[in-house]
Amino acid sequence: MKSLPMFLNGEWIEAGDGATREVFNPANNQLLAVVADGGERDAEAAIGHARRAFDEGPWPQMRAPERASYLFKLADLIDKNADALAELETRNNGKPLREAKYDVADAAGCFRYYAGLITKPLGQTYEVGDPAIQGMVVREPVGVCGQIIPWNYPLLMAAWKLAPGLAAGNCCILKPAEVTPLTAIELFKLIAEAGFPPGAAQLLLGPGPTVGQALAASMQVDKIAFTGGTVTGRKIMTAATGNIKKVTLELGGKSPCIVFADADFDVALEYAMFAIFAGQGEVCSAGSRLILDKKIADKFLPRLAEASAKIVVGDGLDPMTEMGPLITPAHMEKVLGYIEAGRGEGAETICGGHRVTDGALAGGNFVAPTIFVRTRPEMKIVREEIFGPVLVVQLFETEEEAVRLANDTIYGLAGGVFTSDLGKGLRVLKKLRAGVTWLNTFHPTFNEAPWGGYKQSGIGRELGTFGLDAYLETKQININLSPAKLGWFGSAA
Ligand code: NDP
Repeated sequence: MKSLPMFLNGEWIEAGDGATREVFNPANNQLLAVVADGGERDAEAAIGHARRAFDEGPWPQMRAPERASYLFKLADLIDKNADALAELETRNNGKPLREAKYDVADAAGCFRYYAGLITKPLGQTYEVGDPAIQGMVVREPVGVCGQIIPWNYPLLMAAWKLAPGLAAGNCCILKPAEVTPLTAIELFKLIAEAGFPPGAAQLLLGPGPTVGQALAASMQVDKIAFTGGTVTGRKIMTAATGNIKKVTLELGGKSPCIVFADADFDVALEYAMFAIFAGQGEVCSAGSRLILDKKIADKFLPRLAEASAKIVVGDGLDPMTEMGPLITPAHMEKVLGYIEAGRGEGAETICGGHRVTDGALAGGNFVAPTIFVRTRPEMKIVREEIFGPVLVVQLFETEEEAVRLANDTIYGLAGGVFTSDLGKGLRVLKKLRAGVTWLNTFHPTFNEAPWGGYKQSGIGRELGTFGLDAYLETKQININLSPAKLGWFGSAA
């Protein structure tokens, strides 16, 4: 099988040392593709190209409407290739095709959003005490940006990083996860077709600990943007200290889904499932802790278990499939390990709790939707991000207790509340120490709205105007309207 190359400085190239890596379909662990597997030398080459492209090339100097035209063109090309991109995403990541289609449409929307935003007013003018001085603030690109993305939303995360970065005039180097590089490769074919100048956007393939680390540590890279696990986020932040890089981190979560007794029962039930089982639970904002009003637990939990057991687990390409496989055998083992740990600590499953190996699923990484009750706050399954289809239930009696349980985590990415009392809902949302919150819904994400976490869920925000901000420097300019001698040094000057 011929290997798929990376895209450096406008050219498709193999890894410098010729290394390649196999990419598998998580639904059956069969070989999907072979791709270039870059090393530190390739990372250095990409950084050098990006540095030159930023310091001497046309992209940062180009007027915003012209830069926007490239992004609009790219969005149109994504739409034109949407079916193929979605199918490839499902093959490589495992997620059901309907979710992949949503991601592709959202990715195109993200490029359009930032193409529009960059042509809107930026900066400030202001009046200072000195009447001779006119003050203003202009926004400028940060420079060379390393962008490291995970495997759970391969195309969408590429869009979240590239769209604001490129719109702002930065030269971006995208490093996808090793296990899911395929839609990024297709995206860069479209970037090449759209005609972006060489070095404006590059695709660097290779392992995180080598090429990712090189991006994070390089003195030539001005900003690093990362989405992934908190442990890796910490390494990236440490590596970035050398030249005091700008850092944005979108990390993990253990997000609460709080259901009050006065919530619409059926709506809350479906969303409690959607919160954790969409995307196989491999979602940073997954509602992995159901914080449930004790008053309705006896009715809610059996219904939840019954409905969750009926979720159709299968190959994402099968139109009947509602939940796909986990990303790799190793990740599946990690999730199964958490399930064992939960049982070992005395929690009980009311649904799932095992691998699914029926028929054709035997060769894939399938885990049944799993729900744990009789949990205690100190349990590993309650405290740690599992990143799989595993829900832990915690019961509360008062609003204060619900808030306390919800905030009892090192994370602070997201949280949802279900209640028919809007005052109570807003009260509780305002007390959640989390960056993304929902009332009577869970998961909706908008290109217009800032995304990111409190506490150990990250630093900074993506999307919305905040997301563009993270790719812009801020410069004050002071203009003397009436230059005259200062007289500071008397007659000496
Ligand atoms: P990582 O966070 O390690 O991987 C995310 C990205 O970082 C990948 O591109 C990876 O490259 C890269 N990377 C890995 N190590 C380094 C490094 N030292 N320097 C720079 N880049 C690096 O995710 P894992 O796949 O290891 O998953 C571990 C856990 O992280 C999951 O179980 C889950 O809990 C959490 N996670 C959270 C995500 C989120 O959206 N918040 C997404 C993915 C995982 P490569 O693939 O080549 O290793």
